Amino acid sequence: MLQGLLKPVRRRLGVWFDHLAPRGCALCDQTLAPGAFPGVCMACLLAMPGANRLRCARCGLPASASADRQACPCSTASPGFDQTVAVADYAAPLDRVVTSLKFGRQLNLARPLGELLAARWLGSSPAIHLDCLVPVPLSPSRLAHRGFNQTLEMARSMAATVRTPLPVMPFTLRRIRDTAPQSGLSLDERRHNLVGAFSCAGRFDGLHVGLVDDVMTSGSTLTESARVLKAAGARSVIALVVARAMRDSPA
Ligand SMILES: [Zn+2]
Ligand SMILES: [Zn+2]
Repeated sequence: MLQGLLKPVRRRLGVWFDHLAPRGCALCDQTLAPGAFPGVCMACLLAMPGANRLRCARCGLPASASADRQACPCSTASPGFDQTVAVADYAAPLDRVVTSLKFGRQLNLARPLGELLAARWLGSSPAIHLDCLVPVPLSPSRLAHRGFNQTLEMARSMAATVRTPLPVMPFTLRRIRDTAPQSGLSLDERRHNLVGAFSCAGRFDGLHVGLVDDVMTSGSTLTESARVLKAAGARSVIALVVARAMRDSPA
């Protein structure tokens, strides 16, 4: 309730702050108009690789106009989530922004990335209903080392951007053990690496859950998270990712 009341205030304050200190485009630093949404200039939006790509609605991999679902790898190796909303490909310049947020501790980049996610979700056709946002969690030790969870920061930005109430639930899905980095592992190894990595401390009965992550590569992390959310009652799980990498990407 209080969050709902504060949202318009936050949005209005954001515009005022934009007047005081105009924002730069997250991708090229060109000055944006106050209140510009999302926080990326039009030239960069149009130039982001894969931003206008036709994608498999379920897994977000590129699809051709003539291809049916049978042609997509997810038709035989079904992911645990139901749909994917992806802003663009994991490629320059978006990859640099994602990396700068996560490893360069540039937390200010969470706002435009969350806004990009919001814009892409709001533009989904047919519309996708979400009841809440769940950020993919870090393990306690990784969170302590990094000091923040970039997916939570992006989810908060997305929720603050949209006009409908969209609660962010950061503590219900938990990562209960550290896992080896996914890069360099085969698809089978990635899945095996994550078994038992997540648990759920609450119920999501009947809810359509938006599962927020920065990059999807094999989809193994999102698949295992979605499996746990569905075991906790989620009616559907929608993967919301800023960048969709191809399966052989190092991300
Ligand atoms: Zn730009
Ligand atoms: Zn697919």
